[in-house]
Amino acid sequence: MTGGVDLHTHTTASDGTLSPRELVRAAVRRGVRVLAVTDHDSTEGLAEALDEAARHPPLTIVPGLEINCDVPGAEVHVLGYAVDHEAPWFQAFLREQRAERVARVHRIAARLAELGMPIDAAEVFAIVKEGSAGRPHVAQVMVQRGYVASVREAFDKWLHASGPAHVPRRRLTPLEAIGIIRRAGGVPVFAHPGLAERDEMVPDMVAAGLMGIETYYAEHSAAQTAHYKALCREHGLVATGGSDYHGERSGRANPLGHPPVPMSVYEELQGAVRRARASRPAEPPA
Ligand code: AMP
Ligand code: ZN
Ligand code: FE
Ligand code: FE
Repeated sequence: MTGGVDLHTHTTASDGTLSPRELVRAAVRRGVRVLAVTDHDSTEGLAEALDEAARHPPLTIVPGLEINCDVPGAEVHVLGYAVDHEAPWFQAFLREQRAERVARVHRIAARLAELGMPIDAAEVFAIVKEGSAGRPHVAQVMVQRGYVASVREAFDKWLHASGPAHVPRRRLTPLEAIGIIRRAGGVPVFAHPGLAERDEMVPDMVAAGLMGIETYYAEHSAAQTAHYKALCREHGLVATGGSDYHGERSGRANPLGHPPVPMSVYEELQGAVRRARASRPAEPPA
């Protein structure tokens, strides 16, 4: 069974394989009662998710997003919850992020050609459709072309943060991402820190406005979960959690609603949302 709370999921608005409507229906079947939709650099899936959720009381949708940042030798992903996503400057920021993702696909394609694995960027965008482009879409084309047997192999051999086909993003630091989420009135959370292995950045992230650490995560060991719980206590942060579900055909296996996240986490997150709104800094100038 699940804990009824899942604060990290993706849809076809980014690199998930389920539409927002399908994701919400799947969450209901899994017994999820609080679902955060956290697409990469996009809030385009939220309206459909909210519309579907209204048919399944008492399901609650937490509006969210995920911003992936490159740091030397690794990636730090920052989740943002309850942002004022309709703010025009915030949507302009997301459009810019997605445009950089498109440009990056072209740069990755050029790199893959140098490595003897040419792909056509148009094949990638045919999979992306209206969504936010990312490496999982590139990986799918590499599978289609027969360069690798699976999306996972594409990442493990080529596309991971220090892999031969990895091409860095335009520089947006985790501290900048945290600042943007706070200016949008939202709650910034360090996503799956066990994958990033950059705990030393936490104090600076807290100084920049970080409010939580994703503690309950399928790929965290019991020792890591205990460690991040303690780190949250030390810094007064909310210990959040989620599945990072991308759909059954995404090459990532962890199911929706897993690991279990206690309902008390959602209550603590709501407290953080109130604090974030009350202390929202002035919006950046246009
Ligand atoms: P990007 O948006 O280009 O930074 O790509 C990030 C996405 O790649 C993450 O959301 C993950 O779902 C996916 N990803 C990262 N590592 C792997 C992996 N080893 N296997 C499959 N997908 C992965
Ligand atoms: Zn993803
Ligand atoms: Fe992530
Ligand atoms: Fe994610």
